[in-house]
Amino acid sequence: MHVPPQANTARKALVLFSGGQDSTTCLAWALDRYAEVETIGFDYGQRHRIELECRQTVRANITARFPHWAAKLGEDHMLDLSLLGQISQTAMTENVAIEMQANGLPNTFVPGRNLLFLTFAATLAYRRGASVLVGGMCETDYSGYPDCRDNTLKALQVALSLGLDAPMTLETPLMFITKAQTWQLSEDLGGAALNELIIEDTHTCYLGERTQRHAWGWGCGTCPACELRARGYAEYTA
Ligand code: ZN
Repeated sequence: MHVPPQANTARKALVLFSGGQDSTTCLAWALDRYAEVETIGFDYGQRHRIELECRQTVRANITARFPHWAAKLGEDHMLDLSLLGQISQTAMTENVAIEMQANGLPNTFVPGRNLLFLTFAATLAYRRGASVLVGGMCETDYSGYPDCRDNTLKALQVALSLGLDAPMTLETPLMFITKAQTWQLSEDLGGAALNELIIEDTHTCYLGERTQRHAWGWGCGTCPACELRARGYAEYTA
């Protein structure tokens, strides 16, 4: 039987929540250990708006199926960061060649985007009385983004805490675990019911595909994000 940790229960957390598998697992992780949990999402003209719609479905179904978490789940906040699209466009007209990266995203993607997200999240957290930010950043499966690495986030935690003159802890429960271990973590936190919710309601596919249902959930099955999720699920169920 999973016993939730007691040490942090008095604190309030803000979860960076995209509606994908990783951030849904992070949301459950936060609901398991903090007294109050709010969510934040960023609208920056994503490839697929389906992910933003999935956010609300996941929140609604967590509330409906996990009553002990429902009482802790507070407000959702959506920040309009469409200016990131402008920065990306500018980069496209500059001297960087457009090419696809190994992670399936074009390199026109805003460098340091995660630093911006966490800084906006910290500003909101401060105003909401939260002292913990929770994000699904992971070094194990994505080597691509230097602003998702553990040392980057440790440095940012110090910078934010100094800059706000208040403690702002950055928690990244998935940082050093594999995708298979992420499925195991969600099972430990919410049992089979949580994994069923993750399979049915979360979205990971880069192409925004939600017509094909696989054992691991909805998606095209062939983009890098789908492959990663499928491989992790296969390993988890093996
Ligand atoms: Zn896909």
